[in-house]
Amino acid sequence: MVEAKAENIKVVCRIRPLLSNELALQSQFCLSLVNETSISIQGKNYTFDRVFGPHDSQADVYDFVAKPIVDDVMNGYNGTIFAYGQTSSGKTHSMEGDLDDPVNQGIIPRIIQDIFGYIYGLDSRFEFEIEVSYVELYMEKIQDLLNSSNTNLPIHETEKRVPYIKGVTEVQVWNPDEIFQTIQKGRQNCHVTATNMNAVSSRSHRVFMIKIKRTNTEDQQTLFGKLHLVDLAGSEKVSKTGAEGVTLDEAKMINKSLSTLGNVINALVENNAYVPYRDSKLTRILQESLGGNAKTTMLICCSPASYNAAETKSTLMFGVRAK
Ligand code: ADP
Ligand code: MG
Repeated sequence: MVEAKAENIKVVCRIRPLLSNELALQSQFCLSLVNETSISIQGKNYTFDRVFGPHDSQADVYDFVAKPIVDDVMNGYNGTIFAYGQTSSGKTHSMEGDLDDPVNQGIIPRIIQDIFGYIYGLDSRFEFEIEVSYVELYMEKIQDLLNSSNTNLPIHETEKRVPYIKGVTEVQVWNPDEIFQTIQKGRQNCHVTATNMNAVSSRSHRVFMIKIKRTNTEDQQTLFGKLHLVDLAGSEKVSKTGAEGVTLDEAKMINKSLSTLGNVINALVENNAYVPYRDSKLTRILQESLGGNAKTTMLICCSPASYNAAETKSTLMFGVRAK
């Protein structure tokens, strides 16, 4: 029996602390955390599966957002975790954090360690093969972060009509360190553009994929699980970044793929017959890991600073719509 789809989609909100430059500018903390599941800004309440505040640790967020997905992926289900929010809201901090620091590690390093912990805990009957890929989507083009000469990779479909990225590098890994080295390599190939938000704004989506094949050597039964970990492009509006020319085109495409993502999740939550996966490359890549039995978690990242209030509200609305 297929479970109710809405139960497979979790929306979690994380509010970062005010940053030192915001404190220096005497920016105010403009939100209040009402309880574990709701938040209030300018007199309006927003409710999620869970809300994390500025004092909640990387470990707290991981345990709720990602840990439960490990079991599913090891048992042949697909999963996706997204970080959504404006630039500087804490997406990369939440997804990657500091790879080398056990306290400040984000979701990706923690989930990798848990996957291997799971494998090491099983008896020798089971064999595993793990492959990772890392791509960046920029202006609707797929760039392979593990092979910089693989630009503009096409999406093809299997016989069963499952989309996949043709020609993407898949690195077979045997331990967490090999995955970390792969991530470091990918990071060096990432695209970033400066904007007048006094920050380096990420204009691209970054998708880290982990494919797990589990074989029971006694009966040769195999299970395949796939996990997509996605650090989305900044969701801020064009006007705020003062983007012009090429960056205006960029912003339009980013807005398009983010709104398509919203539409896809909304269609899944409402159990619609038609889900507009084909409207963006991002949702096509993720198609197999969104909907059906796949577990999806959206981490809605927000800045608490008063000058970001309008963006924060639109981010909260995006999250609420997915519930
Ligand atoms: P984004 O990827 O959304 O643009 P970042 O993850 O780079 O944002 O976060 C912006 C800044 O805020 C970084 O300096 C980051 O270290 C800091 N930051 C974000 N979230 C937290 C948090 N929960 N606790 C402490 N610092 C944070
Ligand atoms: Mg980032």
